[in-house]
Amino acid sequence: MLEACIASGAFERLSETASTLVNPEIRRWKEEGGRIVGYFCSAMPAEMITAAGLLPFRVRATGSTGTELSDSYFSSINCSFPRHAFNMALRGEYDFLDGLVIFNSCDHVRRVYDHWIRQMKTPFVQILSLPKKTEDAQVEWFRDELSILRERMQDHFGIDLTDARLREAIALHNRSRRRLKEIYNLRKGLRPPVTGAEMLAVTVAGTAMPQEPYSSLLSDLLADLAGKEGRADYRARLMIIGGLLDNPEYVSIIENQGGLIVADSLCFGSRTFWAEVDENTHDPLTALAQYYVADRPSCARMYTEYPRRVEYIRNMINEFRVDGVIFQRLAFCETWGFEQYSLTNDFKEWNIPLLCMDREYVLGGIGQLKTRVQAFLETLGR
Ligand code: SF4
Repeated sequence: MLEACIASGAFERLSETASTLVNPEIRRWKEEGGRIVGYFCSAMPAEMITAAGLLPFRVRATGSTGTELSDSYFSSINCSFPRHAFNMALRGEYDFLDGLVIFNSCDHVRRVYDHWIRQMKTPFVQILSLPKKTEDAQVEWFRDELSILRERMQDHFGIDLTDARLREAIALHNRSRRRLKEIYNLRKGLRPPVTGAEMLAVTVAGTAMPQEPYSSLLSDLLADLAGKEGRADYRARLMIIGGLLDNPEYVSIIENQGGLIVADSLCFGSRTFWAEVDENTHDPLTALAQYYVADRPSCARMYTEYPRRVEYIRNMINEFRVDGVIFQRLAFCETWGFEQYSLTNDFKEWNIPLLCMDREYVLGGIGQLKTRVQAFLETLGR
């Protein structure tokens, strides 16, 4: 578990939730007869699962020790995240799931679906088509996909997924987004009371526990942080961007070299809560489709969105007074490979210091990581 600077019971509970796969919140929920629906990718409207009275759980491979079983289904040049996640599934570590939703978020994850429906006994599995563009036609397409999902969930789980329940869930998830943003904005100051690793633990926890207690814990954490000052002994203010990153330890190693992460553009980080789902739209499914396809800060898989993604990053750099940016991606991730090429050229032109790192899903190469971050901090003249 992450060594915390924050003296907060709320943070300890959130950090524990983020540091293990089957955490105490999950166990409690199952013991009380609750059902859990897992999902790959932040494009999943978790609000639909919450509205159904089920627990939304974003698939991670936290604690994975290898891919000895999934290597029979994936090649070594596939992204290590789906390989580790599917290996854990084959080992039975995802048997607590009552359902699973997968997207064509990338070809690597897409392949997980083909293997999962043949190898696993998860009672409910649904694949959804996620558009790659963000215009009205694509929003309508995704709304239709969500409508299919609603029908199938109602049939399988015997629940009534009404518009009223969807609106309630949207309001609840938005409340958490607002509280996360409040905590996040405390990092604009010169002595942020939260480190980057701690903030990632807080956001990851929100994908692995019921939203109601999560939202309350965020409120408690805000109270615990009120008026608190954090570290001033850092050498540079950094931002971390790129593909899937759900391991606070990785961020902690970077911060232990002297750079404080004060902002991010990650799909387990700020991209999940910087914008909100519109609560005034007549049709909640359309509101969800609009948000997850078009409104929220986008992933590199979304075509024509690069300028908006870069604008988001540059706004963060200015607002959080960032000195340098660390781009990280999982090896063999084409989606973020293309983005890295564009960012490298543009950041050079804009004279924004950028360090690009390829990595494996399971923490490794720590020595090299430390050396490269230290060298980067040197180049920032700190
Ligand atoms: S990191 Fe890239 S390759 Fe891996 S699952 Fe995500 S989008 Fe796909």
